[in-house]
Amino acid sequence: MPKVQETTLEINLKSLEHNYNYLTSKTSENTKFLAVVKAFGYGSDPSRIALKLQDLNADYFAVAYVQEGITLRDAGVTKPILVLHPQPTNFKTIIERCLEPSIYSFKVLKAFIAEAEKEKQQQYPIHIKFNTGLNRLGFNENDSKEIIDTLKKTNAVKVKSIFSHMAASEDLNEKEFTLSQIQSFKNIISVFENNLGYSVLKHMCNTSGILNYPEAHFDMVRSGIGLYGFGNSAEQNKNLKPIASLKSVISQIHHINKGESLGYNRGFVAKNLVKTATIPVGHADGIGRQYGKGKGFVTINNQRAYILGNVCMDMIMVDVTTIDCEEGDEVIVFDNTYTAEALASSASTISYEILTAISQRIKRTFID
Ligand SMILES: *Cc1c(COP(=O)(O)O)cnc(C)c1O
Repeated sequence: MPKVQETTLEINLKSLEHNYNYLTSKTSENTKFLAVVKAFGYGSDPSRIALKLQDLNADYFAVAYVQEGITLRDAGVTKPILVLHPQPTNFKTIIERCLEPSIYSFKVLKAFIAEAEKEKQQQYPIHIKFNTGLNRLGFNENDSKEIIDTLKKTNAVKVKSIFSHMAASEDLNEKEFTLSQIQSFKNIISVFENNLGYSVLKHMCNTSGILNYPEAHFDMVRSGIGLYGFGNSAEQNKNLKPIASLKSVISQIHHINKGESLGYNRGFVAKNLVKTATIPVGHADGIGRQYGKGKGFVTINNQRAYILGNVCMDMIMVDVTTIDCEEGDEVIVFDNTYTAEALASSASTISYEILTAISQRIKRTFID
């Protein structure tokens, strides 16, 4: 790769393909694959990611909010798109753009049926979300009969899938809890399908669920973070390739004498002569304040340079006292060697957060 000359997020679609192939190799041939491309494709680029995965034959897509689904439709995604967290105010748009809602409460179910009837729909696909222990969104196990009674009164909608979400699929200390979630989902399936009278797709695994609970793949799996190259464990990370590299440049070098301060609120005071590099990424780009004051770091000429003082909106200053470098040199914020996960853990957070925080103002480039 040529070195970057400004802050750039490089997105490697070959690595995406590798991750997709790895994840699908973990499921049986009949298991469908839903690619989660919410939050700008975990901070990368939702349209390019989805179009690549559509070419690779992914069966389904999911986004959190309706606007994200519209972006995919506008980009030419024709496969079904599940909207995980719609609100009744979005239902007209959902139908107009052929998006498929997750239905997670009676209020939402009734509102969607009313909209589908108003729009003269027949058997519009919906997905019923069950809560099996995450206690975030979803119907409870004993709601099945009432859901089905409501559904039997209309022909405007048809259940395409029922699904649930694991609370701790990456944490093998919580295996017993996850197994109880799987059992409760199985109980829901048998009551629901028996009463509904037709069979539906069933799914509950996210990335860590795919890797840790093959017995819970059911008809479809839903993967987000794995596609972007992280498996939530050191062991699994070996099989995946981070697709996004955030690179920048040294804008300016300063030498700060003992007793001088650096940055807003004098967040760092030099105890000795310090050489610093100013880099154009800040909290408005996704490097939050929590990375400041010696926690977060970047890599310059293969050496770690820690952030000094407070993170500014558009810049950080890092310690390059012992690093041979000059203005214009390339800076790695994260890539597939110096990973987003390592940077995230320096500030006690997770790869999901730093990836999805990368600002839309940063230029994206693609390797395919
Ligand atoms: C975000 C999300 C996923 C994807 O989870 P990963 O851990 O990124 O694979 C799957 N299902 C639901 C309901 C989600 O909200």
